[in-house]
Amino acid sequence: MLIAGDISSVELTEACLRRIEATEPYLNAFISVSAERAMQQARSADHAWVEWRRGKLTQQPSRLNGIPLAIKDVLCVADITATAGSRMLEAFMPAYDATASARLRAAGAVFLGKTNTDEFAMGSSTENSCYGPTHNPWDQQRVPGGSSGGSAASVAAKSTFGALGTDTGGSVRQPASLCGVVGLKPSYGRISRFGLIAFGSSFDQVGTLTRTAEDAAILLQTLAGPDTFDATCVPTQPPNYLDSLSEPSDLSGLRIGIPNEHFVGGVDAEVEKQVRAAIKLLAKLGAEIMPIRLPRTEHALPAYYLIANAEASANLARYDGIRYGQRQHGKDLWETYVNTRKTGFGPEVKRRIMLGTYALTTGYYDDYYLRAQKVRTLVKQDFDTAFDQVDVIAGPTTPTTAFKLGAKTEDPLQMYLSDIFTLSANLAGIPGVSLPCGMDENRLPIGLQLLGPAFKEKRLLKVAHKFQLATDWHQQDPLVEN
Ligand code: GLN
Repeated sequence: MLIAGDISSVELTEACLRRIEATEPYLNAFISVSAERAMQQARSADHAWVEWRRGKLTQQPSRLNGIPLAIKDVLCVADITATAGSRMLEAFMPAYDATASARLRAAGAVFLGKTNTDEFAMGSSTENSCYGPTHNPWDQQRVPGGSSGGSAASVAAKSTFGALGTDTGGSVRQPASLCGVVGLKPSYGRISRFGLIAFGSSFDQVGTLTRTAEDAAILLQTLAGPDTFDATCVPTQPPNYLDSLSEPSDLSGLRIGIPNEHFVGGVDAEVEKQVRAAIKLLAKLGAEIMPIRLPRTEHALPAYYLIANAEASANLARYDGIRYGQRQHGKDLWETYVNTRKTGFGPEVKRRIMLGTYALTTGYYDDYYLRAQKVRTLVKQDFDTAFDQVDVIAGPTTPTTAFKLGAKTEDPLQMYLSDIFTLSANLAGIPGVSLPCGMDENRLPIGLQLLGPAFKEKRLLKVAHKFQLATDWHQQDPLVEN
């Protein structure tokens, strides 16, 4: 409609801003809304479309030109605060765009605002934000998942057409599952991390939250690709993620592996039932289903929390009140550090810094950090063996549907367990996608997770797209007005 001029970006952006205004009082999905700038971007996007229709441009604008999007508040957008959900960065104003933001900007996308997140992306419920929790549009008494909870909730509430998130251990896929939207975590190295506020640098990856797999493919096409500002970003050009979506072929010849280890360990009966039904549907679409084993699954969680926290303790050392963030003066430099960090960080961030620092100390390094790294290799080998036999792995994204606000805040281990099926993909660096595949008896969304070998996003997106053509779970409405 934008290309044809049947709708304008100004109209789309106004509609999104109205929706945000109506839903924010009870969702709290945004940390900041940049309405004025969004309208400016919308006007210039409309101008580009007009020029295109008049034949004044040699190249058609990107299909994202004029599309309103939201960005998780751990990614930098020039001249808009990037808080990471932390008091520490309440007033931090980046001077430049993250590469992911810059690529969307260059494509002509409209930035509605920055979405709520657990502090420094540490959490699974968006309750660890200094701006208060985000609520799940399907049931306001429940969490949206996390840490990209604001992004997932705003997409589910239809306040935006898509959003950026980040996934260190599941933070795109888990909230996507709990909010009934599509969450794509690409392979480590597929999208530049430049301008992303670091948590666990060997896991962190930018991802997308959208209503459909097709939208995820469109966003990935713009975001993926080499970047000289991030040495861990792979130098190879991405494939065309969209061409295979329109192929009429079914899933014949595709082998899908079902790991028994992803159907144990506190999986709700209703979640298991719906995910198994989704797998049956994939078989009906032509895929061959076979059992596989991921025997190190149970060791992934402790290994992840050791390595991620060790990396976090190093990454967060920079917040000392001198160069970044808020400063609480003391009588000397040491006291300034102490006061700044005492008041700037919330309890979960402090817990992680302490655990991570401990795991790295002389005497414990070998027992904890080094052993965790060895387990990481074993987890990766599990996937290598599995992908010798199958093309895709399928299972539930999360053991349960959205839980009640406050239900797990007192028990960090229970909170950590909600990532049990997502974090091994981060240990191995492989891509994963979560897509809506059913509802439980409380009408809460259930997510199907598909995992693939490194850099096979295209395969995952095709399977997800075929699944969405055959189902309508992604078209259900959360009735946010209730
Ligand atoms: N919930 C996991 C954690 O708290 C993962 C977070 C993330 O992916 N950013 O570490």
